[in-house]
Amino acid sequence: MTREITVVSGKGGTGKSSVTAAFARLAATSSRAAMICDLDVDAADLHLLLAPEVLATAPFSGGRVATLDSANCAACGVCEMRCRYGAVREDDDGFAIDAVSCEGCGVCTHFCPSGAIRMVPRVSGRWFRSRTTSGPMFHAELYPGEENSGKLVSLLREEARGASAAEGRELILADGPPGVGCPVISAITGSDMVVIVTEPTASGVHDLARIADLCGGLKVPAVVLVNKAGLDASMRLRVQEVCDARRLPVIGEIPFSTAVVAGLVRRVTLDRIAADGVAEAVTKAWHAVLFHLAHRLPVAEPKELQA
Ligand code: SF4
Ligand code: SF4
Repeated sequence: MTREITVVSGKGGTGKSSVTAAFARLAATSSRAAMICDLDVDAADLHLLLAPEVLATAPFSGGRVATLDSANCAACGVCEMRCRYGAVREDDDGFAIDAVSCEGCGVCTHFCPSGAIRMVPRVSGRWFRSRTTSGPMFHAELYPGEENSGKLVSLLREEARGASAAEGRELILADGPPGVGCPVISAITGSDMVVIVTEPTASGVHDLARIADLCGGLKVPAVVLVNKAGLDASMRLRVQEVCDARRLPVIGEIPFSTAVVAGLVRRVTLDRIAADGVAEAVTKAWHAVLFHLAHRLPVAEPKELQA
């Protein structure tokens, strides 16, 4: 049976993708190479660390866009009048629809007396099946300004599940989106475990509470990994308070180290950065993740549900 681990962070910049890349390498070196999945489709960056070789690509259509057939247009102007988004424009060549401004509501098709407008799938990005030295990888690119990243996350998860089942892989390791919005819900729902990467800062503590409560609300088992430990002792205590209040286990701490930035710039993953105990800490954390996965964690309790 394939198990799914999703690495998330309440806020961006905590080191979620760096941790995922290190976990992927550690999984591969223990001969249990995971199916790697970059679900942070709005700002995908796992490929920067894992340097995938793309094997196949496909378009992603997350919504619809109106298209106008000028040959059938009677130039009545109704569509321009009805469109609330200003997507229909008239120029010397007649009426046309600006695909960037079109929200895909379909109102113009309803009111056009000539049937000159129809809705077509909107290509919002593309997704890839690749291979890396740490295992196969599914990832995607959402075009600038495009929406429906939650749908793209679902598509990637389904593709990864199908490929894992076909290859008999035991593990899907996903780099989830930051925040607590629709893409995150799409990424963690049904996961066997969520690893929340946080940092001892005010915003880190605040967003840790939000993502922890989301996991609890969705009944997804979660553990917490503190990155950049040592940045702020008082904030580290606050991280612990947030976790204790929700009965969330803290599985480890990766020390703050300037060697991390220097290493990541050269695509050196955390598990290979020996300085300041970084590699040792992330390796211990990976073993803790596997331990908790094997022993089926209880689900964290959202704070408001506790007595
Ligand atoms: S589909 Fe909606 S947003 Fe797009 S052009 Fe028609 S009315 Fe405007
Ligand atoms: S509503 Fe139809 S016929 Fe009228 S301008 Fe728009 S596309 Fe042309």
